Amino acid sequence: MIFKFIYRRRRRPKPSGPEIERLRAEAKAFLPDRLRELAVQKGFADGSHCEYRRIFIKNNLTNWGSCSSKGNINLNLRLMLLPEHLRDYVILHELCHLRYPNHGKEFHSLLNSLCNGQEKQLREELRGYHT
Ligand SMILES: [Zn+2]
Repeated sequence: MIFKFIYRRRRRPKPSGPEIERLRAEAKAFLPDRLRELAVQKGFADGSHCEYRRIFIKNNLTNWGSCSSKGNINLNLRLMLLPEHLRDYVILHELCHLRYPNHGKEFHSLLNSLCNGQEKQLREELRGYHT
C-alpha cells in the first residue's frame, strides 16, 4: 500500500540521469540487505522462512514504498536520501503490509510496536520530505 498522505499530483517527468543511476546503484546495494535485516530482527523472516517474496527498487514520484498482494516489496530509490531512521520506518511500514494489506487499526498497532511507540512522530517527520 502506498503512503496516500504524501501523494501529490505531479506532471513533471521522472528525473533521470547519472544522479539517479548513482542513487539506484546505492539503493540496490543497501536496501535489500536492510530489508532482510529488519525482517529478521522484527520476526518477519528467519533462516527457513521469509514473509516477503521479492524486493524491487523503483524510481517513482508517488510513494516511498509499496507492498503487493503477492508479497513483493517495492522501495523507492530516493529512500537513500532520507535520514536512516525514516528509511527504516518506511521499510517497517511495508513489512507490516505483509500481514495487513490496509491502513487499519491492527496495521498501525503492529507498526507502532515495531517503532517503539514512535509511529506518529515518524509519520509526521516523513511528511517533511517528498519523493
Ligand atoms: Zn501503507
